[in-house]
Amino acid sequence: MAAAAKSWTLSGEQQELLIKSCFEAKEHSYSPYSKFRVGAALLTTDGKIVKGTNIENASYGGTICAERTALVKAVSDGVCSFIGLAVTSDVAEPISPCGMCRQFIREFCSNEMPIFLVPGDYFDKEKEASKKAPVKLTNLGELLPFSFGPGDLEKPRKPS
Ligand SMILES: [Zn+2]
Repeated sequence: MAAAAKSWTLSGEQQELLIKSCFEAKEHSYSPYSKFRVGAALLTTDGKIVKGTNIENASYGGTICAERTALVKAVSDGVCSFIGLAVTSDVAEPISPCGMCRQFIREFCSNEMPIFLVPGDYFDKEKEASKKAPVKLTNLGELLPFSFGPGDLEKPRKPS
């Protein structure tokens, strides 16, 4: 399908589902070292939600982020077509995927797919709406410009 033929606008309902789901994912965070809980949720092309959270390890390098957990879960179940991603943490402003996750997202998602960066206080009823940071809507094209992706490996190369 041509990228232009695809609409990247999600309905309000889809957005709310993604946002609710990334908060649910955060509940299962295993982050005893950083104490920085992150939740991610992917919306698949066929309308399913795949949740992921950060899972740390005593051998720190073994840690995996929420975004990659969600993608690994989906892809290992044979699902690799997505129409949205939402990410949240316990921080009151939106946080953004790390560099490694951006590259990982690049493998499976379009540059135009909406990515919602959701403030951790989104559902906080005690806090006035006017004091909350807004949800940041972005996409991979913005987060990882001039990126290297699967298509680059198809390019003709100088014979060695
Ligand atoms: Zn990451």
